Amino acid sequence: MTDMTYDVAIIGAGPAGLTSALYSHRAGYNIILIGGDTPGGQVIRHYRVDNYPGFPGGITGAELMTSWIKQLMDETGSVPVPESVSGVDFSADTKRLVCGSAHYAARAVIVATGARPRRLGVPGEDKPAGNGVFYCATCDAPLLRTMKRRRAAVVGGGDSAFHTALALLPHADTVTVVSRSHEVRAKPVLVDRFMKDPKAQILTARSVKAVMGRRNVSGLTLVNVNTNEEITMPLEAVFIGIGQAPVTDFLAGALTTDREGFIVTGGNLNTSVPGVFAAGDVRVSPLRQIITAAADGALAAQSAAQYLRTSAVHASSL
Ligand SMILES: Cc1cc2nc3c(=O)[nH]c(=O)nc-3n(C[C@H](O)[C@H](O)[C@H](O)COP(=O)(O)OP(=O)(O)OC[C@H]3O[C@@H](n4cnc5c(N)ncnc54)[C@H](O)[C@@H]3O)c2cc1C
Repeated sequence: MTDMTYDVAIIGAGPAGLTSALYSHRAGYNIILIGGDTPGGQVIRHYRVDNYPGFPGGITGAELMTSWIKQLMDETGSVPVPESVSGVDFSADTKRLVCGSAHYAARAVIVATGARPRRLGVPGEDKPAGNGVFYCATCDAPLLRTMKRRRAAVVGGGDSAFHTALALLPHADTVTVVSRSHEVRAKPVLVDRFMKDPKAQILTARSVKAVMGRRNVSGLTLVNVNTNEEITMPLEAVFIGIGQAPVTDFLAGALTTDREGFIVTGGNLNTSVPGVFAAGDVRVSPLRQIITAAADGALAAQSAAQYLRTSAVHASSL
C-alpha cells in the first residue's frame, strides 16, 4: 500500500494513457501511470502504421510508441508502472486502485485500457502480421494494393463487418461478406450501399472453419451451417469484422457502459462517476484510432485538471 495520494492516476499506457500522462504532468499535477502488460498499447504490435500524420511512408508501431514513452520519460522522469489494475473503489472522493498486493490512491482517474478485436479462434488465424489476416480496415485496407490479386472476405454480419466491407471496396477486386447467420444483422442502409458495388457479394449461413495458407492467406474453409457441406473459397485477404471487446473487466460495473461494455462518456470525457474520465478505445466512440485515442487523452487530462480545480474550491469552502 502506498501512503501517497496522487492527483491523477491513469490506467493504461497506450496512445490515450500516454497522452493523458504527458498533459496532466505538464499541467502541474503529480501522476501515476499504470501501464499493464503492454506499455505503448496495442500499436506496439502493429507492424506498420501508415495513417498517423507526420510520418510520410509510414512507421512501425514499435518505433512510434517507443518515441512516445521516451518523451514521457524525458519530460516526467517516470515510466509506466508495469502492473495491471485488478480492482477499483470509486465510492469516495479519493479513488482507490488495486494492483495485486499494491494499492494506489488518486483524486482523479483516467481509464485508458483500450479494446481488443474479437478473434475467430479458428486454425490458421495466427498468420504473421500483415500476411492476409487483418482486424482493422481503416488501418490495413490499403495493403491490398500491394497484392497481385485482391480478393478479400469480411467475416461477420453486423454493422462492424459492413463498415469494414465498404472500406475495402476501393482497394479490392472482390469483397465477400461471410455471415454465419441466415440474414445479416447490419443496418439496411449499409447493406444496400455495399451491394450497389458490382465487386460486392454476401454469403450467409456459412461459418469459417479455417484460414488456409501456410505463410500467406490462400483462402477460407467454410461450412454450410444447414447442410454441413464444406467449401473452399480462394482469396488473398480476410478481415475479421466481428467487433471489438473493451478491456473493462477490472471495473466490475463501477462505471456505466453500453451493451457491449464500452464506457459511456459525456462531452468532456466524464463518466458516470465524478472525477473518473475515460479516453481512447475503451469508451463509446465512432472511431478507434491512434489519433483519436491521443486526442481523447489530452481532453481527459484537461477535464481531470478542471475537476481537480473545482473540487479543491469545494473542499476549501467546506
Ligand atoms: C490490427 C490493428 C491494427 C491497427 N492499425 C492502426 C493504424 O494503422 N493506425 C491507427 O491509427 N490505428 C490503428 N489501430 C487502432 C489503434 O491501435 C487503437 O485505436 C489505439 O491503440 C487505441 O489506443 P488506446 O490508448 O485507447 O488503447 P491501447 O492501445 O489498446 O492501450 C491500452 C493500454 O491499457 C493497458 N491495460 C489494459 N488493461 C489494463 C489494466 N487492467 N491495468 C493497467 N493497464 C491496462 C495496456 O497494457 C495498454 O498499455 C489498429 C488496431 C488494430 C486492432
